[in-house]
Amino acid sequence: MMDLHREIIKTGKLMVKQGLVASTWGNISVKLSDDEILVTPSGMEYSKLKPSDLVLVNLEGQILEGCRKPSSELPLHLAFYKYRKDINAVVHTHSIYASAYAALRKPIPPLIEDMAMVIGGPVNVASYALPGTKELAQNAVEALGDKGAVLLANHGVIGVGSTLAEAYKACLLAEKTAHISLAAQIMGEPVALNSEEVKIMREAYLTSYGQK
Ligand SMILES: [Zn+2]
Repeated sequence: MMDLHREIIKTGKLMVKQGLVASTWGNISVKLSDDEILVTPSGMEYSKLKPSDLVLVNLEGQILEGCRKPSSELPLHLAFYKYRKDINAVVHTHSIYASAYAALRKPIPPLIEDMAMVIGGPVNVASYALPGTKELAQNAVEALGDKGAVLLANHGVIGVGSTLAEAYKACLLAEKTAHISLAAQIMGEPVALNSEEVKIMREAYLTSYGQK
């Protein structure tokens, strides 16, 4: 159990180091059981987090363990776990290029194969709602569908996955693809993978990629 606490803190530090968030922004949660979610605390520096700073809550957001206030985006995290049973981790970042797409309220197209595999199509944009609201949570799950990431309009990125590493990878690849998209548009007209190609790659990734 403590290993998971450490993995969350490690991922938080990595988010800052890799420039996906600044300072205390962004948040991370992991599902421990059907009704137990471990989430990062509100407004604390990742570099100073101790395992005891993480907060254990149930699916209704009631605190089961911990003395910190949970992330202000907790309703968003809980909505994803309620929406899809295959989601075991949620990572939220404010990375630059993906956020530029969020500001344009335009989906990030599936331009690159690794992103197509991990996210499974374009990163769609959830309709705008104020941070921390139930409305934002509802808009976000609707825009996510069966994919691995979603953009929050004028805000940032959410990555989801069967593990914390997968959810983090989704955030990283959304950012990488948004960056590539900008470079490619400066050089010419990028060609996105079509939905059939994305589907085949996504299925192969989920069933046979790596050392399964
Ligand atoms: Zn945020």
